[in-house]
Amino acid sequence: MTSSKRTTSDSPASRVRATGILPDARWCPSPNYGDRPGGTAISLLVVHNISLPPGQFGGDQIERFFCNRLDPSEHPYFETIAGLQVSAHLLIRRDGSVVQFVNLKDRAWHAGRSSFCGQEECNDYSIGIELEGADDVPYAQPQYHALARVASLIMAAWPEITQDRITGHSDIAPGRKTDPGPAFDWEHFRHRLAGH
Ligand SMILES: [Zn+2]
Repeated sequence: MTSSKRTTSDSPASRVRATGILPDARWCPSPNYGDRPGGTAISLLVVHNISLPPGQFGGDQIERFFCNRLDPSEHPYFETIAGLQVSAHLLIRRDGSVVQFVNLKDRAWHAGRSSFCGQEECNDYSIGIELEGADDVPYAQPQYHALARVASLIMAAWPEITQDRITGHSDIAPGRKTDPGPAFDWEHFRHRLAGH
């Protein structure tokens, strides 16, 4: 483990690593999390998308879903996901604002059955970021901007997350998940990330 990026004890990255809380994120605590297995290093970033109902943006449905407060009678789709207990560490809204549901040091329930480079149970060692979106709808520029900013800070806090350890849900659960979908421009994101 390198400490080269933590030259001072009060750098933004060291504070994130110590607290597990992102500055500038709105805290919306979800009960859907657990401990990471002892000794598991945080070493992967997983990009997702979500919108509720699918393809509709805005509102507080995602936040209520991750906090087990979504009313199934509100929309037919909600009945199909009623009772699911899931979460992600972070959500980036269409306007680029960031909501945090789970402490980054804890294990959020975002990946499900999954595998990265032969290592299963990605939830154990990853941080999950949801983009408010849909597979085939172009993401908003403020989302790329916010994702690059947040990913850069998280990478500085946990240097085990290298450039090649940022992946999509579809890559760690192929055949089962499709997000963030073809609309997510990885090249554009990596270009933005390099600018940080
Ligand atoms: Zn996903």
